Amino acid sequence: MEMMDNSNRDKENTDGIRKTDIKSLDYGEVQALLAGMGEKPFHAGQLYQWMHQKLADSFDEMTNLSKSLRRKLSESCSYTCLTPVQVLTSQIDGTQKYLFRLADGYVIESVLMKYQHGNSVCISTQVGCRMGCRFCASTIGGRTRDLTPGEMLDQVYRIQKMTGERISNLVMMGTGEPLDNYDNAVKFIHMLSDGHGLNISQRNITLSTCGIVPRMRQLAEEGLQITLALSLHASSQQKREELLPVAKKYEIHDAVEACRYYYEKTGRRITFEYSLVGGKNDTAEDAKELASLIHGMNCHVNLIPVNPIKERSYVQSGKKVIADFKNKLENCGINVTIRREMGRDIGGACGQLRKSYLDKEKKE
Ligand code: SAH
Repeated sequence: MEMMDNSNRDKENTDGIRKTDIKSLDYGEVQALLAGMGEKPFHAGQLYQWMHQKLADSFDEMTNLSKSLRRKLSESCSYTCLTPVQVLTSQIDGTQKYLFRLADGYVIESVLMKYQHGNSVCISTQVGCRMGCRFCASTIGGRTRDLTPGEMLDQVYRIQKMTGERISNLVMMGTGEPLDNYDNAVKFIHMLSDGHGLNISQRNITLSTCGIVPRMRQLAEEGLQITLALSLHASSQQKREELLPVAKKYEIHDAVEACRYYYEKTGRRITFEYSLVGGKNDTAEDAKELASLIHGMNCHVNLIPVNPIKERSYVQSGKKVIADFKNKLENCGINVTIRREMGRDIGGACGQLRKSYLDKEKKE
């Protein structure tokens, strides 16, 4: 399953000298880098602010740093700045889908959603995904490589800079499995919530996982205040395996148990995501079984009408079936919301914009 990892491709200059990926360095690491170059400590503050607060596109913009320091930096460091290839805007609710190109040519997808309580960005954590969830478009071509912390951050930075809108919330629900890129995902969360950067509250950050149990437990020990969301999508082991191959490795009860542990350690309410697939997981028995599976937990269930993709034959549950499912859970005392479909007019499910772009590119 492991694919070639090209993540270091953009980090060598033409002489084959390895460059430092400066946007993936945290504040302390930038201080150490500049100290190592014999620079004054306050330049580290200025440099970090240019990258992570003023959201500069390049070293050239950093006009309060001397030309010689800027030259030294560009000789020894690569500077991640994503290039927008396509932006789609919903006429219904203002949701925007972004297709970005990375330095090595791969493309990734991010989404901006506007809510009353603020602007939320959904980021990708990998180029492609190897988890194989049956109804998901992001996993069809497999995983190409992990994203660096800088590439995760820059999805937020480009969107904030292009729209001029402050981003207050973040969900790691785009392409990729964040816990399959664990160290980079955790570093990204630290840097995004750092006061030297955008200072987005950890309580406004959600990490969604298909259920890599050992990593969920490890995350519980990080001392973070983020929300953990588990993509449950079924209430029995057998049904879950059919939709999420990863469930063969990590059993449903172990995944739910890891959520209980996360709550014990962090005090943060768990979110369960449940994509309703017509005729697969949407009966009254499924709802009853789900209620007993998560009984007594401080949690919240997010029902998502499955977004049909052309490569698979899954269909949405009917409106009444969805409402009945919700009522059944509520009668068991469970908090439930039906996820509002955002940007219905700008095309579909997670990973579909990228997929259609890649398909078109192949044809041409
Ligand atoms: N890998 C992580 C995060 C990315 S997917 C995870 O599995 O949680 C974000 C959410 O969207 C997951 O709950 C995923 O199962 C769901 N999802 C993906 N494709 C979907 C589709 N076509 N319809 C409905 N939900 C989908």
